[in-house]
Amino acid sequence: MSQSRIRNKLRTKLLSNEKRCIYCASLPETIEHFPPVSLFDRRDRPSGLEFAACEACNHGTKAAEALAVFVSRIDKDERTAGFWGSQAGQNAIFTLEREAPGLRSQILQNPSISNYLAPSGEVEQQIEIRLSSEKAKNLLDAFSAKLGMALYREHIGEPLPLNGIVQTIWYTNAGLGRDLYEKLLRTFPIFATLKQGKKSYPNQFGYRYNTDGSRILAALVSFHGNFHVFFVASGEPETFELPYAFIGASETTGNVMHPGELLSRLT
Ligand SMILES: [Zn+2]
Repeated sequence: MSQSRIRNKLRTKLLSNEKRCIYCASLPETIEHFPPVSLFDRRDRPSGLEFAACEACNHGTKAAEALAVFVSRIDKDERTAGFWGSQAGQNAIFTLEREAPGLRSQILQNPSISNYLAPSGEVEQQIEIRLSSEKAKNLLDAFSAKLGMALYREHIGEPLPLNGIVQTIWYTNAGLGRDLYEKLLRTFPIFATLKQGKKSYPNQFGYRYNTDGSRILAALVSFHGNFHVFFVASGEPETFELPYAFIGASETTGNVMHPGELLSRLT
């Protein structure tokens, strides 16, 4: 069977097996890849983490994804400096500008950035990116909620129930200190990343998680070591007394969402 016929068969199977979009109550119409391909070097994304989603949820969060790509590449120690001069780096800047016009310059002008990221995209040493704008916060909240709902589907085996809760906090490279990172990691013994045959890129996308296998999933997800999302998702939030106060919550941004609220947060 040809590759495209195999893909079509998998797609039909995925869509017919899912009763609703994994993010809302609508019927599933499309296959969503989460995390998106744009987060991987050379768009080389291993297969897996493919979900049934409605058209609106799948394609309505492009700005959120573009910003996640952008912040995941802003490194403190220049490991990714070469990225901004590459075609992929230029594409990341172009896409963010297209999907969220003006946001990039707003981020770069923010006085709480402790160092300088040149307009050309060249990264200097010790960049600390702090996103204080409402727009940036809403976008990364939406990205994080999507991530939580997608991984809930993956590990629990069904979409997060409509009365369920996904509680998220994201950290740019300035927001998650090593101590807190290590503390969070110790809570989550199981490590996962995307694998396809032998291909896997845990440095680009990896997560540690913990779950009871049926009602709750918590995970710490890392993108390129610079952008981190911590979430708890539960189909029985009352049982687990969610939402609750995250460790380090005073330093950063928490967000609580039910399935179906994704796109309303972005308007
Ligand atoms: Zn949807």
